[in-house]
Amino acid sequence: MIELPIREPCDLCVAAREESWKIIDESEHTLTVINPWQFEVGQCCVITRRHVATLLDLSDQECGAILVSAKRVAEALVRAYRPLGILTFQNNGVFSGQETPHFHFHVVPRQKGSDWGIGPPQLATFDGAGRERGITHDAGEDARRRERVQVSAEQLAETVNLIRSNLPA
Ligand SMILES: [Zn+2]
Repeated sequence: MIELPIREPCDLCVAAREESWKIIDESEHTLTVINPWQFEVGQCCVITRRHVATLLDLSDQECGAILVSAKRVAEALVRAYRPLGILTFQNNGVFSGQETPHFHFHVVPRQKGSDWGIGPPQLATFDGAGRERGITHDAGEDARRRERVQVSAEQLAETVNLIRSNLPA
């Protein structure tokens, strides 16, 4: 049984319901939202409109819609930031690094010199990521890393607008 993180209320449901300024793109089954932690400027997530936790909970329609949305925003990120590469990843369960119990597919423009600490490809071992059963949040250096990459709502909104303006028609 995959152990899920606990977060109440669900921050992604809150974003979908109450924080429309965070939404970059939308489709019938998905929303693309900005990630409040900008380890890379422009990093965002494609989320399901439904509150479901993992890949295992998705319908076939949602599976297809997620990759279509990811490709759309990847195209926008390439136009907006000229990254060295685009990293996509997705976590299922606390032991894979999942921190919010709502399906989200990361789309990240990689640039030189970033320092994530957590998340692929840096999540080399569970111990290294500071995870223990029943504990959903990371320990060690990650709190400090997060603090460093937390940006203001105004900056996030600017980033959202820039990416949105670069979406394919
Ligand atoms: Zn949710």
